[in-house]
Amino acid sequence: MSILLPTGLPAATLLRAGGWALLGGWYGSGPLARDTAFIVPDGSSVASIAAKLEKEGAIASARRFRLRARLLGGGAPIKAGEFLLPRGASVGWGGSQTLGQLGLMEALQEGGYQLLDRGTAKTREERQAMKARLFTCDVFLMSTNAITLDGQLINIDAYGSRVAYLCHGPEQVFVFAGMNKMAADLDAGIKRARNLAAPPNNVRLETGNPCTHTGFCNDCLSSGTICCQFVVTRYNATPGRIKVFLVGEELGY
Ligand code: SF4
Repeated sequence: MSILLPTGLPAATLLRAGGWALLGGWYGSGPLARDTAFIVPDGSSVASIAAKLEKEGAIASARRFRLRARLLGGGAPIKAGEFLLPRGASVGWGGSQTLGQLGLMEALQEGGYQLLDRGTAKTREERQAMKARLFTCDVFLMSTNAITLDGQLINIDAYGSRVAYLCHGPEQVFVFAGMNKMAADLDAGIKRARNLAAPPNNVRLETGNPCTHTGFCNDCLSSGTICCQFVVTRYNATPGRIKVFLVGEELGY
């Protein structure tokens, strides 16, 4: 599968503004106390824009700016119309601390996409319909519990919906992972998923499973275990369908 380092591409907001934009924190506010005008010279690379914005205090993180720009569109140097996630695309996502930390959901809310948010379903029927719709969405966003140096993804799931969409259905899957998710090999990746990802998830969900007391996996068969499916994704059957964005910082667990 593709592993993309977030080299950074331009924001649609910048492109649509014709080369300059008022920046008010769309990419995570920096220390600036008020909005400010920022001129983007023709042909600028997003890396240079991100560095300048961070230096001037308009954004909090050049790295995150580049990552979101990479997701939401553009080319380097700036050129309108090349989007990994085109406007109007239907987008779903799996539960993920990483996505929340990156602020991607807020960015998408403002971006003119069809958001398939299972959390908004009011009835069981609506939820079922949403789950079915997700199988045909354009892009599914998620993180991963571990990723090996040779590119295998390891994920543990309870009901399996997140890994189901990873394996089959959505046209594309974008996987975001902090460097803390890296593991030397499959064995280390499974150990990471079991001992570093699942226990804090259990604590967050207040399951009361053994790992919430011990801090590591006890390989339990409790009725409330969240470790029902172990999925290793070792190859992209459809070339380019799964893209991994490695972010050079610690994200999620
Ligand atoms: S198998 Fe049980 S003990 Fe191990 S991480 Fe999962 S819930 Fe916790």
